[in-house]
Amino acid sequence: MRQRDFGPTGRRLPVLGQGTWNMERDDRAGAIAALRRGLDLGLTHVDTAELYGGGEVEELVGEALAGRRDEVFLASKVLPENASRRGTVAACERSLARLRTDRLDLYLLHWPGRHPLKDTLAAFEELVRAGKVLAWGLSNFDEREVAAAVACNQLLYHLEERGIEHAALPYCEEHGIAVVAYSPLGSGRFPRERSRGGRVLAEIAAAHGATPRQVALAFLLRRPSLFAIPKASRPEHVEENAAAADLVLSEDEARRIDEAFPRGRRRPGVPTL
Ligand code: NAP
Repeated sequence: MRQRDFGPTGRRLPVLGQGTWNMERDDRAGAIAALRRGLDLGLTHVDTAELYGGGEVEELVGEALAGRRDEVFLASKVLPENASRRGTVAACERSLARLRTDRLDLYLLHWPGRHPLKDTLAAFEELVRAGKVLAWGLSNFDEREVAAAVACNQLLYHLEERGIEHAALPYCEEHGIAVVAYSPLGSGRFPRERSRGGRVLAEIAAAHGATPRQVALAFLLRRPSLFAIPKASRPEHVEENAAAADLVLSEDEARRIDEAFPRGRRRPGVPTL
C-alpha cells in the first residue's frame, strides 16, 4: 500500500484507511470481518468517533482490532459538547475503554463547538504527556481556524464536493498538515453510471481495468497531503477500495475528471455533510 508522511507526526501512513460511521447499522460480524480484511490489505488507518452509534462503533472497532492493535493507526474524535479541558480527557478515557486499548494514535475535535479551542488543545497536550494520545488534530475546521502544530484536518472531500480545494487544502499542503478526506465516495451517493460524470469515470476505469470508485479515489489522492478513509462494511468493497491506492491517472484523465466534476465557486468556511 502506498504511504506518505502524515503531517508533522513523523509517521508514514497508507494513503487509504477505513471509516466506521454508521457501522452499527450493518451486520456486526460482517463489519468486523471487513475491517480485519482491510488490515490484511494495508488499510491500517482506522477512523472512528465517540459519536458513532453512541459508542457502539468504538466497541465494534475494539473487537475488530483484538490481537492486532500494534498494526493499526487508530483515530477517534471527541464531540464538541464534551471538548472542555476536563471533558476531553474524560471522553478520551471512555473511548479508550470501549476500544480496549491504552492509546490513540490520533485524537480529533470532531467540529468547532462552544468550548474555547485552547481548552481542548490543552487537554490534548495533557493526553499526549500521559501517553494516551500520540498525536492530535481537528476536523471540519477552515484554514483560518486551524491551529499551529495540528497533525491533520479531517474534511469532507469527494468528486461532487471539491470546496476544500479553494483554500483549506492548499493551506494544509503549504503548512505540512495532513488532510484526511472523509466521505470520499460521497457517503453513499456516488455519481450514477448514466450521468455525464459517471460516464467519464466509467471510460477511464475501463482503460485501466479498474472501477469508477477506484478512479474517484485515485483522483482525490493526487493531492500530496491527502489521505482518504472510505467506509466499507463489505469485504468486497474493502478489496475494491484498497486497490485504488495503486491506480495512477494520467494528466489527461485527471483533466477530464476535473471538467466533469467542477470545483464550483468558493463559499465561506469548509463544506460539511
Ligand atoms: P463513504 O466512505 O464516502 O461511503 C460509504 C458508503 O459507500 C457505504 O454505504 C459503503 O457501503 C459504500 N461503499 C464503500 N466502498 C464501496 C465500493 N467499493 N463499492 C460500492 N459501495 C461502496 O462515506 P462516509 O462513511 O460518510 O465517510 C467515510 C468515513 O469518514 C466515515 O465512515 C467516518 O469514519 C468519516 N467521517 C467523518 C466525518 C467528520 O465529520 N469528521 C463525517 C463523515 C464521515 P458498505 O458499508 O455496505 O460497504
